[in-house]
Amino acid sequence: MVLTGIAGSPGVGVGPAIVLGPRRVTFVQRQVRTSEQEGEIARFRQAVDDAKLELTRLSRGAQPGVARAEVSILEAYTLMLGDELLAEAVERNVRLERQCAEWAVSTAITDFARALAQQEDAYLRERSHDFEFVGERLILALTGASSTRSLPPLDEPSIVIAHDLSSADLLALDPKKILGLATEVGTKTSHTAIVARALELPAVMGADGLVANVISGDVVVVDGLRGTVTLRPSEDTAKSGLVRGEKHLALARQLLCDASRPATLASGERIDLLANIEFATEARAALEHGADGVGLYRTEFLYGGRADLPSEAEQLEQFRRVLEVADGRPVTLRTFDLGGDKPFGRLAPEPQANPALGLRALRLGLKHPEVLTAQLRAMVRASAFGQVRVLVPMVATLREWSDVKRLFAQAVAEVDREGAPRASRIPFGAMIEVPSAAVLADAFARAADFVSVGTNDLVQYTLAVDRTSPGLAALASHFDPAVLRLVSGVRSAASGAGCPASVCGAMAADPLAALLLVGLGYASLSMQPAAIPEVKAALSRVTLDEVREAAREALSRTTADDVEHGLAVSFAPRLFDLLSGDEANAPARARLGAP
Ligand code: PEP
Ligand code: MG
Repeated sequence: MVLTGIAGSPGVGVGPAIVLGPRRVTFVQRQVRTSEQEGEIARFRQAVDDAKLELTRLSRGAQPGVARAEVSILEAYTLMLGDELLAEAVERNVRLERQCAEWAVSTAITDFARALAQQEDAYLRERSHDFEFVGERLILALTGASSTRSLPPLDEPSIVIAHDLSSADLLALDPKKILGLATEVGTKTSHTAIVARALELPAVMGADGLVANVISGDVVVVDGLRGTVTLRPSEDTAKSGLVRGEKHLALARQLLCDASRPATLASGERIDLLANIEFATEARAALEHGADGVGLYRTEFLYGGRADLPSEAEQLEQFRRVLEVADGRPVTLRTFDLGGDKPFGRLAPEPQANPALGLRALRLGLKHPEVLTAQLRAMVRASAFGQVRVLVPMVATLREWSDVKRLFAQAVAEVDREGAPRASRIPFGAMIEVPSAAVLADAFARAADFVSVGTNDLVQYTLAVDRTSPGLAALASHFDPAVLRLVSGVRSAASGAGCPASVCGAMAADPLAALLLVGLGYASLSMQPAAIPEVKAALSRVTLDEVREAAREALSRTTADDVEHGLAVSFAPRLFDLLSGDEANAPARARLGAP
């Protein structure tokens, strides 16, 4: 059985599946033998007692300020835990469906919650969330987990299968034990895919029907080049998957041989290729892939997987590590972009109906100025150790920009008051990733020391396509003419204001799109480290005149397909080996009739 999804991270992984349950409290879906069933039911009963005790302890320990209503809710949950119908459903799932206790609880809760959610009565509909909560308490008690983000340790190298896996969840797993990853939700630009690429793990996102069709232990082929997941493959299919994976690695290794050569066009012009990193530990790999510096350090990952906030000193230490590895090359520290599809850490906003349109990134930072200023202070102090640039995500208005500039000036003044060393000049830049900022690019370019275009969000907000939705991924093309005109407009506005401009979204990592960006006038691109050698090879095969002409032509087109087709006709024959390494670019080749 082959399921088709989206190529999230290149490479091919073959191995036994480990299926993670669908809830925030994750567990392994395991089928049990008849001899184990009584034991599972006993575990469930014990978990009911443990969860009741925990809730009683919570309601007794409630602070005097806690509303009586909240205590009553806890008491109501205790009653729900003892519900006979729930116990019957769980036991039935264990005995008839052979589900382990966690899975049986999850199934029963899903059925109950669904039935309630369909009620006409709003009060009853609301109760479906209460059942979800009760289910989570039970699964927590069963897994013995102390936090809602704990994940099972992986015993042997496995393919991780889940409905959804947040980037924070992925980071909680041991990457050495992951052969590949496949999820039912997410797209190429969702943050889980970004982290998978950072860890160089093959990944497929948006593969519908995955969880219902895979059982832990099944052999699975995750093909992050084609975007497919093959379940229970024949021996030949598994072998050819491994061969494809090895071919991909061989091409990547071959391209790495040129890593130390600067990126230039065939006509001689130099292009700066920088790296997007998520963790300080990636800096070395970035340089090994030939990066001219760090164009985007997503510092929000310092805030995930912990109950407290990272201190200023701790952040400074991480930034210093990157700067030391960068050894004089520029390092762009982006202030935290929490919220959206990265809702983790202490600063996590309340659940929002539309998180991508809610409290995210700079908005969240301005709501917690003391946290943002502490991070800015760490960045200012880090400038003593190398060439620091500070970049602010999701700036939507000039008002926000002046607010954050004020916080930055305050951070600089505080560091100076303490007498701590710092660079005399620290460029302070804005990400252009909200359409409002792209439209006002001339004003931003005059007000900022540099701008960097984040195409992942710019595509999401320009086309109104949720970047995490696999069903809509085909609409989210960075070749869309509306996106191109904005990206081109930012370049012209920045040139007019004498402001350096670069691109740091995933568009820059796609060899065809990278040529287009250079044709539009961008001479600085930042991408995941593994893409640098490929883009460098693509640039070396074309001239500036050619890419300029292709960009001019692209700007005259009216659909994403036409833009992509035009580029493919001009360049795909010359990039064939590179594009075939990443079959996410297959449409371009398919149109040329390539195998
Ligand atoms: C972008 O939006 O293009 C970007 C680089 O930022 P992130 O992917 O972290 O949102
Ligand atoms: Mg972004």
